[in-house]
Amino acid sequence: MTDQFYTDTLASAIDGEWTGAAGRDCQPVVNPSTGETLAELPHVTHDDLDRALDAAERGWKEWRERTAVERGTLIRRAADILDGRVETIAAHLASEQGKPLHEARGDVAAGIGLMRWHSEEARRSYGKALVRPAGKRASVTYQPVGPSAGFAPWNFPFFNVARKVAPALAAGCSIISKPAEETPASAIALQAALLDAGVPGTVAQTVFGDPDMISRHLIASPIIRKVSFTGSVPVGKHLAQLAAAQMKRTTFELGGHAPVIIFDDADIEAHLDTLVTAKFRNAGQVCVSPTRFYVQEGIYDRFAAAMAARTRALVKPGDPFGDGVTMGPLANGRRPQAVHALIEDAARAGAALLTGGERMDGPGNFYRPTILKDVPEDARIMQEEPFGPVAAISPFKTFDEAIGLANRLPLGLAAYVFTQNLDRALLASDAIESGMVAVNSTSVSSADSPFGGIKDSGHGLEDGAEGLKAFMVPKVVHIG
Ligand code: NAD
Repeated sequence: MTDQFYTDTLASAIDGEWTGAAGRDCQPVVNPSTGETLAELPHVTHDDLDRALDAAERGWKEWRERTAVERGTLIRRAADILDGRVETIAAHLASEQGKPLHEARGDVAAGIGLMRWHSEEARRSYGKALVRPAGKRASVTYQPVGPSAGFAPWNFPFFNVARKVAPALAAGCSIISKPAEETPASAIALQAALLDAGVPGTVAQTVFGDPDMISRHLIASPIIRKVSFTGSVPVGKHLAQLAAAQMKRTTFELGGHAPVIIFDDADIEAHLDTLVTAKFRNAGQVCVSPTRFYVQEGIYDRFAAAMAARTRALVKPGDPFGDGVTMGPLANGRRPQAVHALIEDAARAGAALLTGGERMDGPGNFYRPTILKDVPEDARIMQEEPFGPVAAISPFKTFDEAIGLANRLPLGLAAYVFTQNLDRALLASDAIESGMVAVNSTSVSSADSPFGGIKDSGHGLEDGAEGLKAFMVPKVVHIG
């Protein structure tokens, strides 16, 4: 993609055609590192969405008749095409979203990996036969749920979209994706690769526009059988109500506020670099970002001081294309103020600021990596997902106290436990209320493992065999 190609191709893809700007509203795509407008993105109209729905219905009827092997072959062909475009896609992604180039490459590579994984897994969607007397049978098989709508946010502009599109296509569904308007280029590149690979334009479609208008229009349609959304809790609950009114199947991934329990026997030195890297990845704009650090008495002061020192040494904020830069700006102009307000509130409540705590000079949405210590539980930052480059550290005495603190919020996506004691690790993993727990690690996501939360963090799973099944419905056939 050249820059001119970039400007010319920011568009929705409906029924195999790219929609132009003529007769449509546009919104600027802004570089969060500089504030400059990169391009104008046209919005779809209600008529466009009706055409997309009609195409999705036709596409599903044709696509579901193909074998899983045929579908997988086309998905893998798209993955191969994308392999050759990673550098260009990652550069646009870094410009639009602000993450450092190496992280942008990782976003694209992980999405491509998911495409390959689901393309293979689809052929293993086994059903089962139920025991019946001779000459009789009952069978359970899995069928594609039908035309689906996928809503993905801006923090992983490629991966979040691939996470919905790949399993939907592999399962035999058609899908209309609505990626984030702030970060369209990499999602458009995914759409283009699918078309280039031979996936019908009725089967994979991408639309951009007013999110509320699009979600209301698509969810209200009887053509859409499944809704998958990643984003904030309030928007997720709103879409859940719209979907419930139509009795649609849903998957919601709504973020978290991940606790990190560090027991006094943890090997701090072995894990500190990993923790700092995980905390400031994507400037903290990650739903599984380690955020509430509960550290056991005895190692508390040492850990907090070391975390601040390591943050100052390792985290280099700056231009996503700059040499050695490890953290870019926040994704949009709303975020620095939102993060700063949480930090100011914590300081008023008695927290100590060990490093950071301010916006950076110059253009762009840059905020300094921040470590807070002694953060009281009633500070807003201990209730609200900061979704920014800030770690809040607080002490605990006993195992039960740590579990109580971890489970205190109505959220439960990811949690982290650090200890060298196997009993503690197992007991804590069992007791923490969250969809995923990592022990002595910050890794909770891979193509083959289900990803999702409980409580307000949402329901349903993505990735793994469960993520594929999320786009399928069981069919039971009783014979005799
Ligand atoms: P938001 O909920 O307003 O937007 C998140 C995504 O949802 C965006 O891509 C947006 O276009 C889309 N969206 C918004 N309203 C919609 C609607 N009515 N119908 C369909 N899609 C809609 O959040 P934001 O202001 O972009 O970010 C703020 C918060 O969102 C963050 O602090 C974080 O808590 C949460 N968030 C979570 C994730 C995640 O991975 N779970 C990702 C991004 C943001």
